Amino acid sequence: MIMIFNFKKETDVKNKEKNLFQNYLSTHKFKHSKQRKGILEIFLSIDRHLTAEELYRAVKQKYPSVGFATVYRTLKLLCATGLCRELKLESGPARYEHLYGHKHHDHLICTGCGRFVEVIDPEIERLQQKLSKTHGFLPQEHRMELYGICPECRNKNNG
Ligand SMILES: [Zn+2]
Ligand SMILES: [Zn+2]
Ligand SMILES: [Zn+2]
Repeated sequence: MIMIFNFKKETDVKNKEKNLFQNYLSTHKFKHSKQRKGILEIFLSIDRHLTAEELYRAVKQKYPSVGFATVYRTLKLLCATGLCRELKLESGPARYEHLYGHKHHDHLICTGCGRFVEVIDPEIERLQQKLSKTHGFLPQEHRMELYGICPECRNKNNG
């Protein structure tokens, strides 16, 4: 029962995401190409912090004729639609993650293996609100990325 329910919910979310993208394309007079739909499908099927290059490689397996530029432009459209969040990092290429229906979170990033850990600390969130208000800012959004060495990489270095 629970599994069926989860599956249904998952499908509903994906359909909503697809509808949002279709609407965005229509509103902004972009073509509803098969390639764009395909790229969206692949993007939705991988819930990680992907680089454009990684998404391109995944797309290429199913749609060999799609070029990198098309994947990159589609990612930008997905960000504009609110389905995708771009993470510009201290070093290395930007990463892309699902945004729609995802709660706010921050990241711990391993500089050894590149792993992303999603974290949320209510205390840190609260302090950021407080800090903004102290300076007369109306808080809108923030990103927090903490770089360090993950437990696995630390173990490797010690052994
Ligand atoms: Zn936060
Ligand atoms: Zn690591
Ligand atoms: Zn994330």
